[in-house]
Amino acid sequence: MNSSAPLPETAFLRPDGSNREAIAAVAQLALEQLLNLGSQADQRSPVPTWQGSERHVGIPAQSVPLPDLLQQLEPLLAQAMNPANPGYLGHMDPVASTASVIGDAIAALLNNNLLSVEMSPSFSRLETAVLRELAQRFGLGDEAGGLLLSGGSLANLQAIALARNWALQVQETGLAGLTQRPILFASEAAHTSIQKAAMLLGLGSQAVIPIATDRRGRMQVAALTEAIASARRQGQRPFCLVATAGTTVTGSIDPLPELSAIARTEGLWFHVDASYGGAVIFSPRYAHKLQGIEQANSVTFNPQKWLCVAKTSASLLLRDWSLLTEHFRIAAPYMGEADDLINLGEVSVQGTRPADILKLWLTLQHFGDRGCAALVEHGLRLCRCFVAELRQRPQIQVATPPDLNILCFRLASDRLTAELQQFLLDRYFFLSLPRFRDRLWLKAVLVNPFTTPEHIRQLFGAIDAFCRDRQIQPDPQSQDNEITYSQSL
Ligand SMILES: *Cc1c(COP(=O)(O)O)cnc(C)c1O
Repeated sequence: MNSSAPLPETAFLRPDGSNREAIAAVAQLALEQLLNLGSQADQRSPVPTWQGSERHVGIPAQSVPLPDLLQQLEPLLAQAMNPANPGYLGHMDPVASTASVIGDAIAALLNNNLLSVEMSPSFSRLETAVLRELAQRFGLGDEAGGLLLSGGSLANLQAIALARNWALQVQETGLAGLTQRPILFASEAAHTSIQKAAMLLGLGSQAVIPIATDRRGRMQVAALTEAIASARRQGQRPFCLVATAGTTVTGSIDPLPELSAIARTEGLWFHVDASYGGAVIFSPRYAHKLQGIEQANSVTFNPQKWLCVAKTSASLLLRDWSLLTEHFRIAAPYMGEADDLINLGEVSVQGTRPADILKLWLTLQHFGDRGCAALVEHGLRLCRCFVAELRQRPQIQVATPPDLNILCFRLASDRLTAELQQFLLDRYFFLSLPRFRDRLWLKAVLVNPFTTPEHIRQLFGAIDAFCRDRQIQPDPQSQDNEITYSQSL
């Protein structure tokens, strides 16, 4: 490209290295900006209040130099969600690992495409190998394999599509010829992506039969067997059971061994949505919480949550990898073939995808098994601290005793609970405010690697100040919580 071209000098890194210095200078500026931002995150609110700011959103006729653009970014960066603040406790969205930030930068620079082997020869192989390893980590056996997808919702969609095609053989002919209505079962606390999947797959969102949960937020086995029997009496066609390992609101784990046995007896595909809780597999101390997951036909697991891999990093793991070829594949003749490897785009609900495997692989290698276990155990240790503080405060109600590291608690009314959320945010503690069992709760997701037991004590100090200020008295209902706590921990 000649020098009079309207494209700026730094438009691309030139393959002959002739603008290497110019790119290095601007990359250095961007790096400094990121390091400033990240290394002072504890001085910004975990969720800054949006102040508004003037910005040029129209496309300018002339190039704006990158240093100017970096400056224009400042107000946006300053007002971004800030999960690195130790008081950020509200969602399953922790800070990203260094290895994953580097992995994303490399993936962007190389710009390969996981659609086909010829467009990503090294990364297709890496993804296939790493995901097979991951699937085996969950105990899925010798025939296992997996795919990365852009989020757990897509992984759940693909799992349910595969389950449907496998059970009903509708891959080519569609649903119109069916005489019985296909239905699936999931707990009432399952993620909304299950209903979304049923809606997208032509089953209708009502095809997901919600099964009641117990006081711990886990699927009730008796309610499930009753629902299956009732569906069969009505001439419906159950094809899939979705268990959740770590529900989005309370982190509850459905009784996987019992549910897998029912799925087997009833001939249902057994999918475990371990988007959140799957990380526990890395802790020798706590992996038993996922017992039964090794019986799954498919598992969704999001390293972007507890394992701190930059978004998006989500996986679908399969007990029998060859089922994808059999019941999902649409061959694409415009893509080259590789003898030893399938074009991942032919067996994925997604087409073009970046090499998200890089940030996952780099993070797993850099953390090591021990590091992954440490992250998980840190979260569970914080949870025990949290419970110890809650126990001392009978004015606080708890939604369920924790199976993992998520706790939902509230004061006597929705109004007070919402006011407490704002009071805490003003003190740089962010908890989210989900609705659960028709009430508002403050939700703490204890995945932040920078939160310490001392921060938890400070948080409860702030809660005490709020309660004193509002003259809040102990709630008689909390007696129940005492009992469930002592059972759970
Ligand atoms: C987060 C989550 C999902 C959805 O994952 P996305 O990446 O947001 O699409 C699905 N199921 C459960 C239980 C989750 O917690």
